[in-house]
Amino acid sequence: MGMIGFYAGSFDPFTNGHLQIVKKAAKCFDKVIVGIGYNAEKTERIDKARMKEAIERTISEENLNNVEVVLYTGLTVDKAKESGADILIRGLRNGTDYEYEENISEINEKIANMDTCYFRAGDLGYLSSSIVMELYNKNKSIEPYVPKAVAELLNFLK
Ligand code: ADP
Repeated sequence: MGMIGFYAGSFDPFTNGHLQIVKKAAKCFDKVIVGIGYNAEKTERIDKARMKEAIERTISEENLNNVEVVLYTGLTVDKAKESGADILIRGLRNGTDYEYEENISEINEKIANMDTCYFRAGDLGYLSSSIVMELYNKNKSIEPYVPKAVAELLNFLK
């Protein structure tokens, strides 16, 4: 099957920054699994099943044929292993992300012997799910910052 990457996140919501990481990863790996997880530190803002559908629509509209989406609870490495993944994928926006991600990556390496591959956010490094939610809650347009299917979902939920 080749190399399988597991891109985990809360994706609450999935933004153009996340999409860019998926696109970069899809070019490097034979298969990419986007894992929508539950982060114990964060409360869910958008229904995960609906977000999964919106990400799936985005992936199909972008013709990312080697990408699939799963929902999971529990430890990321457990789900990644169960899915047959070889490596974890994360995106880096800045130094703060790097420090945070490094701790998680180190633990994952220790407990599951799984390495993490980082992709650069580049010019979308300013974008976060919380900024999108801030705009959304203040009735500002979110269209420039999220894929079409995600914007439609958020506008439908309004
Ligand atoms: P988590 O709750 O697991 O941090 P997020 O959905 O916030 O999940 O982010 C998932 C991953 O995507 C993280 O590695 C994060 O650094 C990365 N990421 C978030 N926003 C961007 C962006 N604009 N560009 C690139 N990577 C990003």
